[in-house]
This record gives sequence, structure tokens and C-alpha cells, in this order.
Amino acid sequence: MNKRIDLHMHSLFSDGELLPSELARRALKLNHEVIAITDHIDYYNVEEIPKIQAAIDDINSNWDITVVLGAEVTHAPTESIDAIAKRAKELGAKIVVVHGETLNEPVTPGTNLAAVKSKYVDILGHPGLITKEEAELALKNDIYLEISARKGHCLGNGHVASIAREVGNKLIVDTDTHSPDDLITFDKSYEIARGAGLSDEEAMKAIVDNPRELLKSKGIL
Ligand SMILES: [Zn+2]
Ligand SMILES: [Zn+2]
Repeated sequence: MNKRIDLHMHSLFSDGELLPSELARRALKLNHEVIAITDHIDYYNVEEIPKIQAAIDDINSNWDITVVLGAEVTHAPTESIDAIAKRAKELGAKIVVVHGETLNEPVTPGTNLAAVKSKYVDILGHPGLITKEEAELALKNDIYLEISARKGHCLGNGHVASIAREVGNKLIVDTDTHSPDDLITFDKSYEIARGAGLSDEEAMKAIVDNPRELLKSKGIL
């Protein structure tokens, strides 16, 4: 039975509702193998990222789940995205997401472009109406594009899936969990991928192969 990997989740460190331990406990219960805690950052709190490392180490040494320290550069000025992502990596974040130009919020235009140009970014979260040019840069720089399970952010999923097919991008299905009810099962992630227009094969790639490949490239799996 396939276990789920979710590389975009929030804890109490930013605006999530759960402590890292409860988040991990609920993920374990829903058959997750790996989760990344990618709390919102800008210059307000980037230096504090290591604060949750002790909780992560505690979970990893006691429970049968791997929790990865990450961060999500969120609503930062486009000029600063690369530097904040770089700093997050220096401080120990293994997975850096950028809060992309979702249809749901007034994210600064140019955020997608700044994200896909950065060598410190791993995933462009909910990239909304991403352009072909941005998708091509994401492919070139080995940045995954997100299919989002989150209400509002998911409005762009069909567009993201079709442009990724055209350009050849690697997709990843994540929940962007903030609350207990946001965590999903493996089967649900498959339905979300299919709902975005992916074929069975493309969906399995986005929920199994691609997250594994990303984690392997970081030496985590
Ligand atoms: Zn986001
Ligand atoms: Zn998020």
C-alpha cells in the first residue's frame, strides 16, 4: 500500500493550528511516510526556522515517520525571495517552497518568476496562472510545480497541470495543511491529481515518484 508524502504543511510556528508533534501524529495516523513542515517566512522570522528543529528531531527519533524542516517564502518582495530562500537553506531548511501567485490572494506579480529563477527554491506552491516562460525556467532549474489540495489555491490546478504537460514540468500534490481537517489520505491525493486533469500515470508520478525523487536528491530517502 502506498504511503503518502506531503511536502507543504504549516505548524504553530506560523499560522498552522498544530504543534509539530500533533501534525506528525495525525500524518502518521493517515499513513504518511514523510512530511515537510514549511511554515511561512519572510525577514520577520527567517532566523527562527531552527526553533522547530528540536521537535522534529524528537519526532524522527521516536516515531515511524520522517519529518523534514522546510519553509515557505510568503508574500515577500520579489526582489528578496532568492535571498530569503538562501538564508532558509543556510539555517537548515531542506525544502523551500515559494507561496506562488495563487488566484486566491493578492500575491505580488513577479513572485512566480522570482521563485523559478532561484536555485534555493524546490517547489513553487499554488502557482496560479503560471506562464509558459515561468514553467520553462522551473524545468530548467529543477523546481517542482504544485497541485494544491487547498481550497482557493486549487482553482489554478487545471491550468498548472496542462502547462506542466506542455512544458514537461514535474508536478507534486501537496495539501498546504493548516488545520487538522486539511490532511488527506493517499487515495484523496490521487483524486485531486486526477481532478486537475492528470492521467493515472501522471497522477502516480505526482504523488509517488516526484516527491520521492526530490527527497532523494536531498539525501532524505
Ligand atoms: Zn502558500
Ligand atoms: Zn502554505
